[in-house]
Amino acid sequence: MTFHISLIILLFGVGHSSFSNPMLLVEQQLFQYIDDHQDEFVQKLAEWVAVESDSLQPRLRAKVTEMIKTAAVSLRCLGADVTLNDTGIQQLPDGQNISLPPVILAKLGEDPLKPTVCFYGHVDVMPAKIQDGWKTPPFTLTEIDGNLYGRGATDNKGPVLAWINAVSTFKALNIDLPVNIKFLIEGMEEAQSIGLEGLLEKENQRFFSSVDYIVISDNTWLTTKKPALTYGTRGNACFSIEVEGGEKDLHSGGVGGIIHEPMSDLIALLDSLVNSSGHILIPGIYDDVAPLTEEEKQLYEPIEFDLKEYKTNIGVKKFLYDTKEEILLHLWRFPSLSIHGIEGAFYEPGIKTVIPSRVTGKFSIRQVPHMALSTVECQVKKYLEDVFSERKSPNKLTVTMQMGASPWVANIRDPQFEAAKKAIKKVFKQDPDMIRDGATIPIARMFQKITKKSVMMFPIGAVDDGEHSQKEKISRSNYINGTKVFASFLLEISKLHGELKLEASKLKIET
Ligand code: MN
Ligand code: MN
Repeated sequence: MTFHISLIILLFGVGHSSFSNPMLLVEQQLFQYIDDHQDEFVQKLAEWVAVESDSLQPRLRAKVTEMIKTAAVSLRCLGADVTLNDTGIQQLPDGQNISLPPVILAKLGEDPLKPTVCFYGHVDVMPAKIQDGWKTPPFTLTEIDGNLYGRGATDNKGPVLAWINAVSTFKALNIDLPVNIKFLIEGMEEAQSIGLEGLLEKENQRFFSSVDYIVISDNTWLTTKKPALTYGTRGNACFSIEVEGGEKDLHSGGVGGIIHEPMSDLIALLDSLVNSSGHILIPGIYDDVAPLTEEEKQLYEPIEFDLKEYKTNIGVKKFLYDTKEEILLHLWRFPSLSIHGIEGAFYEPGIKTVIPSRVTGKFSIRQVPHMALSTVECQVKKYLEDVFSERKSPNKLTVTMQMGASPWVANIRDPQFEAAKKAIKKVFKQDPDMIRDGATIPIARMFQKITKKSVMMFPIGAVDDGEHSQKEKISRSNYINGTKVFASFLLEISKLHGELKLEASKLKIET
């Protein structure tokens, strides 16, 4: 009986609030429109997937430019002011120069009372050939069991279109857009976004000056069913250790036992970096790692992550840690050190009793906030030189940091995370997992570093979408619900932003 009464109250409550709350009514209209027009949205995605905008193969550069122009047309249809921005040329390994595709900067609305949301996405794709083992033609969007297969479906054409669909829904229903919206769409993301950093620096005081929030939808959830928001990525510092003996390779029968072998030195150096528990042995390396707060620890508890399944997927028998929390912490917010290879070593099958004269070991450190690259570089060099000097070897040691990319972390108390959580709860009926990525996604860090704005990664793809693989897909439901969640996000961020402004102005009056 109690159950019935509470059910009636619940129904009455929901019904009542949708009539009295104009935002809910608007949202229902938007969602209904998106459901009713989903086939058109899927058709649009099919048109985009059909363009082989592969940015890695220079012979297809014209296709990337064609794709950028197609995206520009879609944005102009929204009523946006769209510019195509030249970012210069790319020098190919063979010395040839080719033009980079233009980058789209688009803006819609300039109301100072509304927040400005800037969406970043890319419309270039990884290479794909049917011979690679695709079950369906990669550039023909094919729907099987509710999944839309095709190159670029989830990375990143589907999510870019979900944003455009969301805005077009407001326009189609003649509902005032609750935010000013900007789009930055590029065509070189799969080729390390060549040219983008320069454009960001150039536009920082112009295009980005009025931007409040930057949203990137270019990663996936941690699972197939539970939505997620991403607030951090690890960095990557790549090192080489070169040990050089004499001028030429030697014979172990002729000199074995009487010289300091470069390979033995190198193995000892590599072995000194990390112990069998995964602990990095470089003194001071953990000093600047941000302390783990109680509040942060609690974010890990509700995360849906199947350790057993993950273990099976990657094909290992045992992890270094036993619990979900420990595993995710060590994957996302503690540094790790991995050894990748040795150049110059004999690696072919069979026996060759050679003593290589020069060998280079490669390893990398996935570093986390607040480890500074320059500090890490000094610590690594100092430590390896100390270990080497203990060996009293006459060989020559050279340690070099070959590449360094910084980590990124966002403030999850920022209004845009709050707004996204609310939108997700409405559309997917559950709270998102708050996740990080153990890998490096330079784009988030690049935006944060240059613009100093709040950056959020708001994925709509599922973990099994197969980005870069031969079965890339986005499910119809993720694509359509993704469109809804972005529309809802625009309403929520506008509301939260307005409330914050009101509070700020009240504070001003009080003081
Ligand atoms: Mn991508
Ligand atoms: Mn990609």
